[in-house]
Parts: sequence; structure tokens; C-alpha cells
Amino acid sequence: MTTSQDLFQRAQDSIPGGVNSPVRAFNGVGGTPLFITQAQGARMTDADGKEYIDYVGSWGPMILGHNHPEIKQAVLDAVEHGLSYGAPTETEILMAEKVKELVPSIEKVRMVSSGTEATMSAIRLARGFTGRDKILKFEGCYHGHADSLLVKAGSGALTMGVPNSPGIPEDFAKHTLTVSFNNLDEVKEIFAKYADEIACIIVEPVAGNMNCIPPVEGFLEGLRSVCDEYKSVLIFDEVMTGFRVALGCAQAYYNIRPDLTTLGKVIGGGMPVGAFGGKKEIMDFIAPVGPVYQAGTLSGNPIAMAAGLKSLELISKPGLHDDLEAKSRRLCEGFKQAAERAGIPLTTNYAGGMFGFFFTEEDNITTYEQATQCDGERFKRFFHLMLEEGVYLAPSAYETGFVSTAHGNDEIEQTISAAERVFFKL
Ligand code: PMP
Repeated sequence: MTTSQDLFQRAQDSIPGGVNSPVRAFNGVGGTPLFITQAQGARMTDADGKEYIDYVGSWGPMILGHNHPEIKQAVLDAVEHGLSYGAPTETEILMAEKVKELVPSIEKVRMVSSGTEATMSAIRLARGFTGRDKILKFEGCYHGHADSLLVKAGSGALTMGVPNSPGIPEDFAKHTLTVSFNNLDEVKEIFAKYADEIACIIVEPVAGNMNCIPPVEGFLEGLRSVCDEYKSVLIFDEVMTGFRVALGCAQAYYNIRPDLTTLGKVIGGGMPVGAFGGKKEIMDFIAPVGPVYQAGTLSGNPIAMAAGLKSLELISKPGLHDDLEAKSRRLCEGFKQAAERAGIPLTTNYAGGMFGFFFTEEDNITTYEQATQCDGERFKRFFHLMLEEGVYLAPSAYETGFVSTAHGNDEIEQTISAAERVFFKL
């Protein structure tokens, strides 16, 4: 039988690092990445035939669990008609209408094929709309790998120790201003300095790429008023939080209305989909109505739309997000109590279907500095011992965990028991 070890060795001869996206290589934790052969519900099976309870969920999209029968059927039905036309279809209208229904700040929406495309396009649009060059982002937030955004970035860039990637001309990077997440004073200072040069603020309303850090009270409200004062565009990057923190996205959970929203992950139900949308007057600035160019050969792909639309329909069930949040809460409380029993200092955060845990003595993690000062070595040991227990967590201390509707009480309680055994071994 071919094992993950064999496959990883072989992959490295033909694929840089053996993977098609860096964090998958386990650089953040060491060891051999699991090569997956199949996944159903809350569980994944690797090439060695071992089964895991999965809290990565393909990095967010699998909110209904893996290979949900109705999404699979929607894809199979769509395949019957053809794979791609490069011409408009009715499904794209249904998708746009559904997004508008669920996210009232979105008056018009454009489909793309990844989260990176969504944020890159939203920023170009904000720049074109305002006629300004500078953008403001937060240290440790990740918005995909477009040039302007790999400045003090989180996620894999942070895990690999390259928050500022080489290959980005200084002339581009100089337009990206960065300040600390959850620090409104710094935002106000930088706006006072650059006043009418800043096209937009882009923010993850719950930071999910430096572990999981919810906004402190007043932070998102403050961003809204600063943008109003300086006529900057407020972009919520909801690629991760969208349809996951709440049905109406994090903007509904925190009750703030951004000007533009970027979406990805859940909106595709596991297929490659991203989207950006918002105020009509801004969205009508993109081609073919407006002058800002943006396009895509496979944008609105009929198979991807079928999967995404079905996913959005299924998550529209009342109470579904409350249940998800209850699972995140139980997991966090269970981890915390188990760690306490083993004498391991641990802090947890959660919002809707996202959770994070930090090996630290501090009891409230709200900043990038705090997240990066946690005990990384302890995390690595914890990660590998959890794998041995059959629990697949994100292979980096700078990623969020995801629960799905397929995670039942059994899976959650098994995970907490496994964590307790592991905490005693740390
Ligand atoms: N924005 C956020 C908040 C993300 O979490 C991610 C990916 N994790 C992206 C953008 C980029 O999305 P993609 O990987 O689909 O390009």
C-alpha cells in the first residue's frame, strides 16, 4: 500500500515542497503531511487507511461536513448539462439573489474563483472608485496572495516566517499601510496622517489567520466611522467568516455594514468559488458597466455555482449557526477544563463555527503580539499527539479550527477526551 510517507517523497520531485499550497506541507509542525484518499461527514481517511475527525474542513468550506449528499447530487445534476460555457446562466442569477438575500449590505455581487481573486478585485475596485492608492490592512490578517496584500500577512506566510514575501516591488508594498488588529487608536493616527490618500480598510471581522481573534468591542464600529469620516471604502474580508460566523456573515453577528464584502470558502460548498459585492454605486464601477477591469474564464462556473448555491440553501436552516456556535463553545470549554486538569495553561476563542486555542498564561487573546508569543513548541507536540489520537487539527498555531454540522456530540466529546489524554503527556 502507498502511504502518506511514500506519496510525500514522490510529490517533492515534481511539486515544490510536495504540495499545492504551503501550509499543507506541515512546515509549521514538522513531520509528514497526511495524503487524503476520501472524506465523509466529519471524518477524513488518509493514504495509510487511518481515519481522523477533521477540524480543518478544507480550510473552511465544509460547513455541512464532507461530501454532503445533497451537494454531491447538485454537482452530479449540473455535470449532466456541461462543465463550462463561458456565457451567463440562470444559476448565476440565483446565486447572486441568494447572496443578496442573506447579506443585505451586498446590493450587487460578482463571482470569481478564489478568495484571493475576490480581495484583489475588491481592492482594485476601491482604488478605482476613490481614485486613491493606499490601503490599510492589519498585521497578521491574511487576504490571499495578491501583491498588495502580502505585507505583514498571516496564515501560511506567517507560519513560514515570510509575512512580507520577496517578489513584491517596494513600489507596490509602499501603498499598503499596516496597523495592529483591534487597535483603533493606531487606525485613527494613520488616517490623520494620510487623510484622503487611503482608498480602503480591509479587515477580517474575526481574524482567522493568526489563530482565531474576535474583534474587541467597538473596533469594527470604529472602523466604520473612520471610513465614513475620510470617505474610505470599508471592506470586510469574509472569505473565512462569511456564512460561517452567522448566516448573514460576521457583519450580521456584529451588526456592522461594510461597503464591500469579499467571500470564498463556504460560498463554493467545496468547489473553487469566491465573490465580492457591496454597494451598488461602487459595484457599478466594474466592467462592463464601469471602468475598473475585472474578468475570469471560469467565473460563475456552472458546476461550482450548483455546489455553492446548494450549500447556501442548506445552511439557511434556522438555528443552524447557533448549533455550530454551541459546538465551538463546547469544544473550547472542554479543552480548557481538560488543560486545567493537566496543569497546562490554555486560552480559547470562538465565534460561530470558528474556534482557536492558545498555549499561553494570558487569559484574553486580542492581539497579534499575544498570538505570536504563545508556546509554539507545545503546540507542535499537541498537534502530533492529537493526530495519533485520530484528530486532525490545522497544522499551524496560526490557523483557526472549523466545526461543521456533521460534528455530532460523539465527535466533539471524543475530541475533548483525546485532548485531555494529550494534555497530560505534554
Ligand atoms: N481572505 C481570507 C480571510 C482567507 O482566510 C483566505 C484563505 N484562507 C483568503 C482571503 C484567500 O482565499 P483563497 O485561498 O481562496 O485564495
